[in-house]
Amino acid sequence: MDWMEKELQDLHVGSAKRQLHRTTSLAQQPGYAIRGARTLLNLSSNDYLGLAQHPKIVEAMREALLSDGAGASASRLVTGNHQPYGELEAAIANWQNSEAALVFGSGYMANVGVISALVGRGDVVFSDGLNHASIVDGVILSRAEHARYRHNDLNHLRALLEKHRDKRRKLIVTDAIFSMDGDAARLSELVRLKREYGAMLMVDEAHGSGIYGRQGQGYCHALGLHDEVDVHMGTFSKAFGVYGAYVCGTHTLIEWLVNKARTLIYSTALPAAVVVGISSALELVRAEHWRRDHLLTHSKSFRSALRDAGFNVIPGDSPIVPVIVGDNETALQFSHALENEGILATAIRPPTVPAGTARIRFSLSAAHTEEQLTMSLGIIERLGRQMGVLA
Ligand code: PMP
Repeated sequence: MDWMEKELQDLHVGSAKRQLHRTTSLAQQPGYAIRGARTLLNLSSNDYLGLAQHPKIVEAMREALLSDGAGASASRLVTGNHQPYGELEAAIANWQNSEAALVFGSGYMANVGVISALVGRGDVVFSDGLNHASIVDGVILSRAEHARYRHNDLNHLRALLEKHRDKRRKLIVTDAIFSMDGDAARLSELVRLKREYGAMLMVDEAHGSGIYGRQGQGYCHALGLHDEVDVHMGTFSKAFGVYGAYVCGTHTLIEWLVNKARTLIYSTALPAAVVVGISSALELVRAEHWRRDHLLTHSKSFRSALRDAGFNVIPGDSPIVPVIVGDNETALQFSHALENEGILATAIRPPTVPAGTARIRFSLSAAHTEEQLTMSLGIIERLGRQMGVLA
């Protein structure tokens, strides 16, 4: 095992070694987290709507835990398909205006299971170069050919579709909102291309659902393109503040996945308490539109304030606001300096993002107040100047 120590040392020297930091959330103070002995404003969570500590969700989960116990004890196809699943899936299908829905153990498992169920040897997946790692892993597991197109470059996608015109099945897959850049997919053009080339279209709404659309149904709904998308996938681990994921589409699609998605078939069902927690979160996501309004208004002003200050901010309108710093070491130092001033903002480094684009990925929450964000902007700008990140 000596090779491991050497390679870890290489990562350390390149400021690319990752470490687990103990973080505690605070039920009394959503939007904050404890690291070590300090309470920090958390500008790095995916709790977009501020629901992760919501008493209604926590109470629903507590009750379900007491009545149903800790674990589901088997996969859904064996004896783990407890009653709350059916209720949740009906509610998700209704919310998404889809024929049917299927709950998965996590977003990672949904992507890996769905892609490997839809395509196989002799097929091809057209995947945006910045798609999430779980999509990449799903393609690898499927054994289909992986045709990656440059990020949001639809001329490149068209050329690849042309090249693979004669393949058996074709799947175009994209994040709706890209997790590390925070920008959006060009969905209407993707719909046009999928029709032209007879491909299936799958959209990962991990960072779109809960946030966009009148009832938080996601970015596809917000654009009125819901019916054009064959496979909708989203997570309950971000805006919903809980855990797990959904896939929506036709009855046939869902029946196919129940038969073919290996991450559903060969893994234990989510505990009933988690499923109940998601149902409770769904009610809040649908009803409390003010959370989305609040979040998107703050995200817009936070992003433009950083840009006006001179930071290299990737354009977009989502709550993910990445500030490109460049090299790994500066990104880490910037993150540490922010932490010293009470702000938790994680440095994201390669291989999660392309080499030379290490960044601080701010992600906002409806739990944040305007005062907190204004105070943070002052600190970020001062430190950015001191550290030479800002000209
Ligand atoms: N897709 C995207 C775009 C994501 O950002 C993530 C989470 N980082 C996932 C899928 C995986 O979701 P989960 O955390 O629920 O496994």
